[in-house]
Amino acid sequence: MWKKVVITVLGIAVLGVGTVYAEQSMQTVYHVQMDGREIGTVTEKAVVQDELEALVKQKEEQHEDWNLTVAEDITFKPERVFSVEADEGQVLERLEQDVSYAVEAVQVQVNGQSIAYLPEAGDVEEVMETLKAEYVNDEGGSEEEDVSAGETELENVYVNGVIDYAPVQAAPSSINTVEETVDRIQTGNLSEQVSLSSGEPLVDVIVTEQEREAEMIAHKVEVRNTDALYEGETEIHQEGQDGKRETLIQTVTENGETTEEEVLEEEVVEDPVTQVVLKGTKPSPSTGSGNFVWPAVGGVITSKQGERWGRYHKGIDIAGVSDLTIKAADHGKVTEAGYQESFGNKVVIDHGNGYETLYAHLSSIDVQVGDTVQQGEKIGDMGTTGHSTGVHLHFEVHKDGGLENPLSHVSQ
Ligand SMILES: [Zn+2]
Repeated sequence: MWKKVVITVLGIAVLGVGTVYAEQSMQTVYHVQMDGREIGTVTEKAVVQDELEALVKQKEEQHEDWNLTVAEDITFKPERVFSVEADEGQVLERLEQDVSYAVEAVQVQVNGQSIAYLPEAGDVEEVMETLKAEYVNDEGGSEEEDVSAGETELENVYVNGVIDYAPVQAAPSSINTVEETVDRIQTGNLSEQVSLSSGEPLVDVIVTEQEREAEMIAHKVEVRNTDALYEGETEIHQEGQDGKRETLIQTVTENGETTEEEVLEEEVVEDPVTQVVLKGTKPSPSTGSGNFVWPAVGGVITSKQGERWGRYHKGIDIAGVSDLTIKAADHGKVTEAGYQESFGNKVVIDHGNGYETLYAHLSSIDVQVGDTVQQGEKIGDMGTTGHSTGVHLHFEVHKDGGLENPLSHVSQ
């Protein structure tokens, strides 16, 4: 009894298997057609669809902003068959070889003429912005109403021409970049290879900008004569100062070329201050007073007049100063000013009253032969030119051709 039941059950099972086998032996295959042309047979549509998706994805990876589709029409024709003779491998190979792509793009038109294909509508916006930016000088600093000095502010920019776009499917090779599109609009050359056009821009970019320029106003110099000063002497009575003028200029440019320029405002923001110079008219005495002043700024006497190292030292040596200025001991006229071997740079002043003074070893000389100098006026800087062992002034006093002891005339 038990056994029988088991056999029955088995029998049903066997029957069932037989039925399934019969169903499967009658199968559906799909004839894959590319633009109506058969390229093979598959048992599942998904195999083809997955392959197409993979191919598109692979292609898209090379162009991040592209949205691609397969250009060909891929269709399936089902057929019920007993014996399956699918050739999936061949179908996939054909797809990979023969499929071409279309980009979901926008066609850019300028004044109704197609000039480029861009991947996205957003790129057209970028073309417009780039086109405008090419001709705008405003650095976009301040958003204030007023243009401050040295700044340029954009007042208006408009494109004289209609740029629009429409969605299309385009071949990948016809897709342009934003830069190419801008270039085509600017130059009027619609092909990179041949330039047949006159090079006229397809649209005009008209920019209105305001710039406030700051300009210096040079100060004047006024010279006033005064007998409070000796001839040749000057004194600044009032320091001069440059002024400042600001000008607001409005410029209109068309494709970068200035077509209009207008001064909107002009204002002196700082008046210049005239420099007033006093000029001495009092005749300068070239005759000495007979009284001498110390010819240096401080310092010490390092050598007096007299026998030294078997030779006669004709003057005194002054050294140890922090200010190197050498002064004329009295009014007079410069009779020598130049280099002489042992004295180095030397100045001799004739005081017009029989006295002459001599200054030697100067590092630089500020006077020339023939100059009238005043008592205490700077004639040069202390130095160590000529036969000298250190920075010092060698100072001699002569009267009527004979040597005087300087220390009888000057003291610190
Ligand atoms: Zn000396």
